[in-house]
Amino acid sequence: MIDGFFTKKETESKSRPGGKKVSCVSCGLYKDCTSPKMKPYGNFKKKILNIGEAPGEIEDQTGKPFQGKTGKLLQRTYKELGIDLFEDCLNINAVNCRPADRQGHNRAPSNAEVDCCRKQVFQIIEEYKPILIVLLGNSALYSLIGHRWRKDLNGIVKWRGFQIPDQDFKTWLCPVFHPSYVERALNPPTFSKSYSTGNIEELIWKQDLWQAFRLVNDKIPFPHYVEPTIEIIENLNVLKNIKYESAFDYETTGLKPHATGHRIVCVSIADSENHAYVFLMPKTKKERQPFIDYLTNPKLKKIAQNMKFEHTWTKIRLGVEVEGWEWDTMLATHVFDNRPGITGLKFQVYVQFGIVDYTSEVDSYLGTDTVDANAINHILELIKKPGGTEALCKYCGLDSIYELRLANRQRLNLLPF
Ligand code: URA
Repeated sequence: MIDGFFTKKETESKSRPGGKKVSCVSCGLYKDCTSPKMKPYGNFKKKILNIGEAPGEIEDQTGKPFQGKTGKLLQRTYKELGIDLFEDCLNINAVNCRPADRQGHNRAPSNAEVDCCRKQVFQIIEEYKPILIVLLGNSALYSLIGHRWRKDLNGIVKWRGFQIPDQDFKTWLCPVFHPSYVERALNPPTFSKSYSTGNIEELIWKQDLWQAFRLVNDKIPFPHYVEPTIEIIENLNVLKNIKYESAFDYETTGLKPHATGHRIVCVSIADSENHAYVFLMPKTKKERQPFIDYLTNPKLKKIAQNMKFEHTWTKIRLGVEVEGWEWDTMLATHVFDNRPGITGLKFQVYVQFGIVDYTSEVDSYLGTDTVDANAINHILELIKKPGGTEALCKYCGLDSIYELRLANRQRLNLLPF
């Protein structure tokens, strides 16, 4: 048995992904392979960490990751892009013991097996502090993001190509296709050859890797999170301080404003990347007037995430049309990249700014009990709870701050450099 990088005692420590007790040894894979708990391999000169899926037969025999056919493709491609896989990088897998099927063939690890290995993967990140982590395929994606993401990840196709400044790991995470996916696309089985688009998959893969390596080669500074000021106001006259451009966002009792009983509960206006005003919608027309003046002033340029939502609620519930629309972050995301499932603000906040979750305090109040488009959510209950108004205002304030930050980023992308 080749010795791994953990003592027996270390492997016994417990972690609890999904509330389940798992440790390095609970998947049992270590029992049936030649090189259990495979050590990280590579000289790490450029501080790049590659996380693959799992060792295959050849890796298990040699005790090193990325040695077989897939590994050779990875070595060649990295070389073409100016990176030496074993000199410049450290290499591990999401699962570090070889998974095999009953016939002894390589198989992909299950998510449960990735859960068991996660703690070891995190210890390596903690110990080596890479500048860049390349997530090769679904298992690596699930290892680093799956336990923090409350919805289904929906696969690598949705995630590939982003350079995520992850604020928990304080390093860049770059999900890309797994090399075996590219290998299969380049060399499809004969019966599906006529449908093959292999060169496209390879091109996308190389472009994604190139963009990832650029972060290291060009020493792109890691963008650390800056805590914004969220100012909860009661007298809306301060909105007169807003001079040129802002993002605004509503928290409402539901999706559609037309049905009886619906209300705009909370409003936030970010007038800079680091400051937002937030208020509960005043009951009287007089108190609301400074906000109406803001909405109807065409010189005050406005940004929103899905502006037809804010526009319709304004028209139906406040009786005025918003003037001065300038940018819609949701539409812009779709124009830049039309993959499904990526236009939501929470997804964009993670992939652009590295913040996984800023909604958990209020999430359960935002949903409705039925799927009816006119259903009422639970935010009126939230604001009656101790601390509930503050939680809602903070969430609403962050929404408009992130919208403004995202709009600025998107517009930078349009500059010709
Ligand atoms: N070899 C590895 O070590 N990991 C992979 O994901 C593929 C091949």
